[in-house]
Amino acid sequence: MESTLRRTWAEVNLDAIAYNYKKIKEKIGKDVKFLGVVKADAYGHGSIQVGQLLQEVGADYLAVSSADEALELRVNGITMPILILGHTPKEQVGRLIDYQITQAVTCKAKAEEYSAEARKCGGILKVHIKVDTGMSRLGYLCDGEHFGTGVEGIIEACEMPGLDAEGIFTHFAVADEFGPEFDAYTKHQFALFSEVIEAVEKKRGVKFAIRHCANTGAVARFPETYLDMVRPGLLLYGYGEFAHKMGLKPAMTMKTTVSTIKIYPAGTAISYGGIFKTDKMTRIGVLPYGYADGFLRSLSNKCSLYTKEGPAKLRGKICMDMCMIDITDMMGVDVGSEVEIFGEKNSIDTLAELADTIPYELTCAVSKRVPRVYYRDGVVVDKELMLRM
Ligand SMILES: *Cc1c(COP(=O)(O)O)cnc(C)c1O
Repeated sequence: MESTLRRTWAEVNLDAIAYNYKKIKEKIGKDVKFLGVVKADAYGHGSIQVGQLLQEVGADYLAVSSADEALELRVNGITMPILILGHTPKEQVGRLIDYQITQAVTCKAKAEEYSAEARKCGGILKVHIKVDTGMSRLGYLCDGEHFGTGVEGIIEACEMPGLDAEGIFTHFAVADEFGPEFDAYTKHQFALFSEVIEAVEKKRGVKFAIRHCANTGAVARFPETYLDMVRPGLLLYGYGEFAHKMGLKPAMTMKTTVSTIKIYPAGTAISYGGIFKTDKMTRIGVLPYGYADGFLRSLSNKCSLYTKEGPAKLRGKICMDMCMIDITDMMGVDVGSEVEIFGEKNSIDTLAELADTIPYELTCAVSKRVPRVYYRDGVVVDKELMLRM
């Protein structure tokens, strides 16, 4: 582990996540529960460390996308409620019950499977019913002509033996997009969700304990959608324009070091394909950070990385294990100097925009060979390398 540091590493600032949690809590108010989305290894930040932090600061729920992700948290000391948002094969139901993990129920066929398996195990599976109000992905379809059958299906699932319907939820498709048509779409999704809940609760005479729908965009922009619980991911990690507007802090800083410096004459082609050619005497630094570490190759020749003397332009194609920056006018940048790929100084949002993608993709892409160093109260509290040694 020590040997891999000072090369390329990710610093995860748990204080930033705790700060963002506190700020979001202030915004939603004390009566609204907080579910922290920690799927995909907490968007690349480490779901165990982030989960432990959220448990410690008093968050109410965690969400992941698979049974494996949920079990990883359970066997690592997370005792708080965990919801699996995605697909779980029926063979896993027994484990979910044993480990007290909540499962999303996304359609009639899955409800029947889960119910049958739970009965076989002689246990009760806690579930949250997913409603498709316009995301057109998982959930009971309830819009327009499907309202009646959707509501019927949900009621049926709620009353199946072996299932305990603790919650109901939906997911917004365009809550983070600006424009009247997008706002109308989100409002329609929310109105439909509210109608579905009302119809189901009225027919059953039982209220859902936890109704939730607000993702990052909705937490930032639509307070009327908070209901019993909010479900932010990106906002918690401090990226994107909503985090920026709320004064939240980016949690991850990706750092690398200059491994080699070369001086080339004018007319030298740099890296694969020769897409960059020097136009004068040029000093190039080679960095041990490439697309196999999580860099996006589409940023080739497009972005800048941050040195102690300011931003340095990336030159040529990004390779699997390396990339090159122009440090011609930065004589203070030497072999061993630190370079920030993204973080406080070099915003991940800017990189994402240049790559024509979203910040989610950049943090999720950080690969297992990049060690992660965790900071709490300003000091290193944990170091982790995912390679199998
Ligand atoms: C990923 C996800 C979220 C969190 O989305 P953000 O945009 O990161 O806030 C919330 N709900 C569901 C169902 C998700 O899949």
